[in-house]
Amino acid sequence: MKPIIYDLKLNELTNLITESGEPAYRAKQIWQMIYRQLAEDPSEFSNLSKDLRQKLSDHFCFKPLNVEKDLKSSDGQTNKLLFRLQDDRMIESVLMRYRERNTICISTQVGCPMNCAFCATGQMGFIRNLSAGEIVAQVLFFSRLLKSEGLKLTNIVVMGMGEPFHNYDAVMKAVDIISDPDGMDFGERRITISTVGIVPRIEQFTAAKRQINLAVSLHAPSNAVRDQIIPANKKYPIDSLLEACRNYTEKTGRRITFEYALIHGLNDNYENADLLCRRLKGMLCHVNLIPLNNTKKYEGSGSNHDRTQSFKSVLDKNGIPCSVRLKRGIDIGAGCGQLLAEQSK
Ligand code: SAH
Repeated sequence: MKPIIYDLKLNELTNLITESGEPAYRAKQIWQMIYRQLAEDPSEFSNLSKDLRQKLSDHFCFKPLNVEKDLKSSDGQTNKLLFRLQDDRMIESVLMRYRERNTICISTQVGCPMNCAFCATGQMGFIRNLSAGEIVAQVLFFSRLLKSEGLKLTNIVVMGMGEPFHNYDAVMKAVDIISDPDGMDFGERRITISTVGIVPRIEQFTAAKRQINLAVSLHAPSNAVRDQIIPANKKYPIDSLLEACRNYTEKTGRRITFEYALIHGLNDNYENADLLCRRLKGMLCHVNLIPLNNTKKYEGSGSNHDRTQSFKSVLDKNGIPCSVRLKRGIDIGAGCGQLLAEQSK
């Protein structure tokens, strides 16, 4: 298997290019073809000699993702992609066009080791990490697709398959590559990374002082409830998690997003809402309430409209900023891991 060109930062590409006897500025030309022009193949690199184009295709893989399935939602606004990787493993990514925003949701691992009870990806176990280049390739794929429609990618959420903070270095490298000002120049402020709550990585992320937005999958205000659905809570209990979160907001001055999947009868009653408010009081945060999407191997179901609204009203009364998140693309299985789970049945 050839190395994936998107695994390289510009300085790494520059080193390889100069080692091969080419002038350094060639690396920048290649970089701009890939990340500015969004060219897909060296044959389109019109600013390079035929020789160099050939050398590039001989040495590097430019197409680490092959489209296995491309599903469009009934309203045409959401695409859910199933990609086949070089080793035949599969991942999924989603594009959501909504008003002025074109947001993609990308994967960071094949499967996931976190094993959250309600999550279709968790239910399939962990296969491997994605490389930085495989993460970048998802961004490039949708950037090109949007460009063909006269549109631009505006937001990235790292909320697809996998636990991004369990593949921390590759994820940060991917962000470095897409935010490089000589290339795509995609602003960190328009990227959100979602974690199940790996405390040491949240601390590392806090210290790194990046502009990337942070979301934490809280889903419950107590260990008693969170332990039942998120095995990682045993290792990083809620007190240590929320302390790391509070510290993040104080050190960085940045708002944190808490995701809370409402599960009927488990975490959606008044006591849970009230405890959540006390836990989050005074923290610079926003709570996203999302009625759970049903998955095959989990018997719980999403809260209905009334219970969702009563839960929200407790947060409103306590001044905890929150919103009920819209479900988009549910008809094409765009919930986390749902498409692949469907495929492998
Ligand atoms: N591993 C990361 C990111 C991937 S999941 C994390 O845990 O945050 C992205 C979000 O979707 C998480 O908040 C996750 O808990 C949530 N999620 C997974 N399965 C879901 C389901 N069936 N219904 C609602 N939300 C779900």
